[in-house]
Amino acid sequence: MRADLERVKILAEGWKPEQVLSWAFATYGENIALATGMGVEGMVLTDITWRINPGVKIFTGDTEFLFPETYDLMDRVEEKYGIKIERLYSDLTPEEQEREHGPRLWARDPDQCCNLRKVEPLRRKLATLDAWVTAIRRNQTSERSGVFKVDWDPKFNLIKICPLADWTRKMVWDYALEHDVPYNSLHDLNYPSIGCTHCTRAVQPGEDARAGRWSGFGKTECGLHTPEPSAAAQLVQLATAAADD
Ligand code: SF4
Repeated sequence: MRADLERVKILAEGWKPEQVLSWAFATYGENIALATGMGVEGMVLTDITWRINPGVKIFTGDTEFLFPETYDLMDRVEEKYGIKIERLYSDLTPEEQEREHGPRLWARDPDQCCNLRKVEPLRRKLATLDAWVTAIRRNQTSERSGVFKVDWDPKFNLIKICPLADWTRKMVWDYALEHDVPYNSLHDLNYPSIGCTHCTRAVQPGEDARAGRWSGFGKTECGLHTPEPSAAAQLVQLATAAADD
């Protein structure tokens, strides 16, 4: 099994998103689902996936702190594709979180807040699957630069499929506009990356696309796609070796 995965992991690097997805649905049947944070990458991947498998299961984390524009997008996607997006919630309502952890946890300890509202709900969902599909791309953040299109996910113990791993932002937008893919209207107002209202701002000209997320904190990920320490160390080693070449 491990040898098969290693073979596919290498082969899949030469596959287009449609080939990756076709292999994934043929291999994992009912036990695979697409996760999206409702960004433009996730919307493009939803469109590509729906054309291959209109019955695809899709879920998103609803932190209960999202923008009205994001909830509106969920409605538009469900209507356009005739699907129901499963929403994952924290065990704690925002009010319960404030009672247990104090006010404005996101401003004091965003890692803990993301863990409560995003990571743990996702962990519970992924425990029911054999594989998950995500729209992350390698050039989004340093944490994502080492992802493969098909790989074992040691953080959540299942297969992780990233069909857009080698796409650029331009490729994503070209596809979205060409195929009339629904997207968050905030993207047109200088919000290239959109999360919770408390932790997202518009970016200024020249800023990185993710500079508007957790501004003021040294944080670029909510924790869903952060490599495990051992994997991260491996990536650093590889990068160091490459730099020494
Ligand atoms: S993005 Fe901000 S508000 Fe949302 S879960 Fe993370 S820390 Fe909390």
